[in-house]
Amino acid sequence: MSIFFPAAIEKNERKQFFQAKFDYYEDVFRWVVILICLAEVSYFVTDCQIFGRMAWEVLFPRCFVLLPMGLYLLYNHFRHDYLGNTIIGYLVMHASMWCTIWTIYYLPNRDFSREGFIVMHFGFLSLGLAAPMYLHTILHSILLLDIVVSNLFIHYEHFSMMITLGLPIYVGILLLLKILENAYVDHYLSNKKLASMSTTDQLTQAYNRHILDDILESGTSKLNFKSTDSIWFLLIDVDFFKKINDTYGHEAGDQILIAISSKIRENIREDDLCLRWGGEEFVVILQNAAKEEAMQIGERIRNSISGSASISPKVTISVGVSKYLGADYHQAINDADKAMYYAKNHGRNQVICVEDL
Ligand code: GH3
Ligand code: MG
Ligand code: MG
Repeated sequence: MSIFFPAAIEKNERKQFFQAKFDYYEDVFRWVVILICLAEVSYFVTDCQIFGRMAWEVLFPRCFVLLPMGLYLLYNHFRHDYLGNTIIGYLVMHASMWCTIWTIYYLPNRDFSREGFIVMHFGFLSLGLAAPMYLHTILHSILLLDIVVSNLFIHYEHFSMMITLGLPIYVGILLLLKILENAYVDHYLSNKKLASMSTTDQLTQAYNRHILDDILESGTSKLNFKSTDSIWFLLIDVDFFKKINDTYGHEAGDQILIAISSKIRENIREDDLCLRWGGEEFVVILQNAAKEEAMQIGERIRNSISGSASISPKVTISVGVSKYLGADYHQAINDADKAMYYAKNHGRNQVICVEDL
C-alpha cells in the first residue's frame, strides 16, 4: 500500500478521483491561498512592533506576495484543473515563504521567524485537503528546503530547532492528510455508486430512461450531446418475448435481455447511447447520423441478435427508427413506436423508418 495513492482507487481512475477531490475542496483551497497572503501582508504590523517604528523597508517585501496571489486567482478564474491549481497554489505559498524570508533579512530580531514558519505548515495542511497526496508530499517538503537554503545567508539563530520542530509537524500533517483522504475515498466511491445506480439499469447495465431528460438538454450532464442536429432514435422491441418467458422461465428471459443489451452496445458507435426503455424494449440514440446510417446500424443490431450463437433460444427484434426534431423527445419516441408497431404487424424481425410509412 502506498501513502501517496489511495489503494481503493484504480490506477486509471486516479485523475478523475483527484479532480473530484479538488472540485470538492476548491473553495477551501482558494480561500487558504488568499488568507495566507493577506496574513503575510498583515504581519507588517508585527514588523513595526519589532522595529519599534514604521518598518518602511519591509512594506514592499510583505506586499509583494499580492502579485503571485493575483496570478493564481487569475488562473483559477479560468481553469479548474487539479494539477495546475495545485502547483500554482502551492507556489504562491512558497512565494509567501520567500517574502517572509526577504522581510526577515531586514529584521533586527529574527527570533519570531520560527513561529512564522510553523504557521506556514498549517497553511499547507489546509491546501492538502484538495491536493493529491503525492503532490502535497513533494510541494510541502520544499518548505523545509526553503528554510535550509535561506539559512545559508540569513543564519537563523535557532536553525536546528526550526528543523527539529518542523520535521515532525510535516510528517504528522502527511499522516493526518492520509486519514482525511481515506475518508474522502469513501465519500467518492459511494457517490459514484449512487450516480451509477440512478442512471444505469441494474439488470442489463444499459442506461435507464432517466438520462433522456439530461442528454438532450445542454449543460446538464456529462452525457450531453454535442449537437441536437442529426439525432436518430431506434426503438427496439424483442419479438414474442412473453413466449420465451412462459417456455423457458423468467430467469432465462433475464439472461437473454442481458445478452441483447450487450449485443446492442457492441454494435453502436462510441458516441451513441443505449438505454433500457422498460421491459424488453431498448432505445438507441445515435448522434451525427444520416438516415442511411441509422438504418444500417438498426440492421446491424438486428442481424447480430438473430444470428447470435450465444443467445439461446434464438430471438429476433423489431426496430422502429425516427428522427429527433428537437425539444421534446416524446415526439421521437412516438414516431419510432409507430414504425416499430408497423414492423410488428408486417412480420416482425425487421427495421422500419417512420419516414417510409
Ligand atoms: P411482441 O412481439 O408483440 O412484442 O410480443 P411480446 O411477447 O414480446 O410482447 P409483450 O409486450 O406481450 O410481452 C413482453 C414481455 O416481456 C412480458 C414480460 O413478462 C416480459 N418482461 C418485461 N420485463 C422483463 C424482465 O425484466 N425480465 C423478463 N424475464 N421478462 C420481462
Ligand atoms: Mg414490448
Ligand atoms: Mg416484445
